[in-house]
Amino acid sequence: DVITVGELAKRMGIKANDLIKELMRQGSMVTINHPLDYETAALLATEFNHEVENVAFDEDIILEDVGIESDASEDSSNLQTRPPVVTIMGHVDHGKTSLLDAIRTTDVTAGEAGGITQHIGAYDVELDGRKITFLDTPGHEAFTAMRARGAEATDIVVLVVAADDGVMPQTKEAINHSKAAGVPIIVAVNKIDKPGADPNRVKQELTEFEMVPEDWGGDTIFVEVSAKEHTNLESLLEMILLQAEVLELQANPIKRAKGIIVEARLDKGRGPVATVLVQEGTLRIGDPIVSGVNFGRVRTMTDDRGCQLEEAGPSCPVEVTGLSGTPDAGEPFHAVENEKAAKDVAGHRQRKLREAELASSSKISLDQLYARLQEGDVKELKVIIKGDVQGSVEAVKDTLGKLSTDACRLVVIHSAVGGIIESDVSLAAASDAIILGFNVRPEPKANAQADLDGVDIRLYNIIYDAVEDIRNAMEGLLAPIF
Ligand code: GDP
Repeated sequence: DVITVGELAKRMGIKANDLIKELMRQGSMVTINHPLDYETAALLATEFNHEVENVAFDEDIILEDVGIESDASEDSSNLQTRPPVVTIMGHVDHGKTSLLDAIRTTDVTAGEAGGITQHIGAYDVELDGRKITFLDTPGHEAFTAMRARGAEATDIVVLVVAADDGVMPQTKEAINHSKAAGVPIIVAVNKIDKPGADPNRVKQELTEFEMVPEDWGGDTIFVEVSAKEHTNLESLLEMILLQAEVLELQANPIKRAKGIIVEARLDKGRGPVATVLVQEGTLRIGDPIVSGVNFGRVRTMTDDRGCQLEEAGPSCPVEVTGLSGTPDAGEPFHAVENEKAAKDVAGHRQRKLREAELASSSKISLDQLYARLQEGDVKELKVIIKGDVQGSVEAVKDTLGKLSTDACRLVVIHSAVGGIIESDVSLAAASDAIILGFNVRPEPKANAQADLDGVDIRLYNIIYDAVEDIRNAMEGLLAPIF
């Protein structure tokens, strides 16, 4: 597990030079590309007031090891134009689903194939040889859920507003979500076939959100459509393609695939089935992939028309089988060098997850002690004492010992001179103890371990402060319960 001086500085948001200076001060002469082991990096990070996120740290390194981030075919000359990915948003009943269906059935290629279309969470259509991908879970919930996972899948939002209803609460929400994500909006004024339709009112209302139509001197694209009568759907697609051109969407198809999970489910016959959106590279049958804690090899790839595919390039949505489980929507996926690498990454994530779960279940802190004492399920408070000199360790031990009452005993399970080390933490974790440190600090490794195990480490300079804290915690039992 290594990280370079330069990379560590970058992640902490400081100048590499400052980090090099600090290392020099500590007696090591290093360059920016010098590798640091985890302990050293963690120690340095603490010195610059950064907490080391063990999970992210290891994860990046493992991903790098399996070649995800250092793909040799990563070269800007390989960039090619890719189709835009569109999400349709808008108020309930304004016609999102109808529009998605209408666009799909209008698509000539779909008609020619004559296959039965199936919902896989995304589909693509073609206009004059140019493709557009639609995520067909409408609404901003899916959009936001993906964003919450850091997945920016959508390039363009089509905001559907019913011409007979105008701007409604979810219209505003959709606008806010799109703007927050920095995704351009095309307005589809829908239901213009209806007698009460008033597209101008919609335009007027949207000016409030700085969305002004081009013919009114603004730069927002408005298309008046009817999902019901299939009116102007082609102009809508043209406008999407126009907007896509402005965005200059590009991706490198000549590398290992990566992208996001659009949706996943367990199929009785086929096992876990996941719809993935390839964002970079090309995914092929047989590719080892990993997504979250799930891994496997791509066994089959199927598009929304039920066609079997051999490969899927950027912006292409496909349903894949072969994963060990069903990842969450919005989870990234990576194709990796071999199945072992996929398994390693997934296993690593699984372990981290389990550790985090264990930590939260076994955690006992001084703050929780009061509550646990009141519930009557703690009769003993176990502590580990570490101090800078034998005198203070003994003094603390004596003073704390006197706090024991009939109702709650205070037990010092270990005391010693020296900093707080990993074995102190594992002892504390195993026996539900808390650690008290006097004029000593935990080693970075011990700190990280304590975080994982949920062990409470309390640091003091004054014995009195520690005694007060413990006394207060124990008071829970002594205080009358009303
Ligand atoms: P969603 O909730 O936004 O997905 O809206 P739906 O697509 O379910 O449509 C809501 C209702 O509006 C349905 O009854 C549709 O038939 C109707 N609808 C959708 N688009 C149009 C349209 O262009 N014209 C008319 N007259 N009705 C429409």
